[in-house]
Amino acid sequence: QLRLDGVAKSFGAAQALRDVTLAAAPGTFLVLLGPSGCGKSTLLRVLAGLEAPTAGQVFINGRDATGLPPASRGIAMVFQSYALFPHLSVAENIIFGLRARGVGRAERDARLSRTAQMMGLAGLLDRRPAQLSGGQQQRVALARAVVAEAPICLMDEPLSNLDAKLRAEMRREIRALQQRLGITMVYVTHDQAEAMSMADQVVLMRDGCVEQDATPAELYARPATTFAASFIGTPP
Ligand code: ATP
Ligand code: MG
Repeated sequence: QLRLDGVAKSFGAAQALRDVTLAAAPGTFLVLLGPSGCGKSTLLRVLAGLEAPTAGQVFINGRDATGLPPASRGIAMVFQSYALFPHLSVAENIIFGLRARGVGRAERDARLSRTAQMMGLAGLLDRRPAQLSGGQQQRVALARAVVAEAPICLMDEPLSNLDAKLRAEMRREIRALQQRLGITMVYVTHDQAEAMSMADQVVLMRDGCVEQDATPAELYARPATTFAASFIGTPP
């Protein structure tokens, strides 16, 4: 469903992505894992169409999507700094993107109530973001992506500003949500425990390249390089 073929991306002299080839089958929870600066966010932005690759191609559902604008890719994205609009209610925050894309009122209302129900936000729709806990704000950011009802969802370190307990809870929620919706997920983290506990498929990156592409069990059992072995460590 999702395929990158020889993707490279340079910013001037800096090569953020060198030669990335990977594929994810429909319904896969794929985690992009790797140290800071290895190109994870750049890869997500190329997938979403927010950056054009310098070389290579992006395929979505077997179609060459390399030149497609973000809105026509069937992709929803949750950014690391989820930046809710402080002056808008929870409900308005959730449907903001739908409104921008011209989804009609009745459809917006239907999707809002479906999403709010699913995300446990039904009682909070009239509040402002400042009146929510960190975990509730995070849920609103997720709801904003879920409401798009896109077959592919990209998340860039969505839990990085939560405490350890909430992070563990949200990991389970995101995984359950992905399975319930049957969507393909590309989830970025530099936390190997998070990657190994959530992923069907882990793509370990280093310096703009794919170091290893495997299931968590395979990575533990047969790390391909000393870098992979030391980054992954041993099972908990
Ligand atoms: P982190 O875990 O810290 O978020 P990352 O793996 O997401 O790191 P990227 O943000 O993809 O890394 O950056 C990869 C490389 O590309 C870095 O060296 C970064 O400095 C560089 N880079 C990213 N965006 C730009 C840009 N707009 N202009 C110039 N260089 C950039
Ligand atoms: Mg990043």
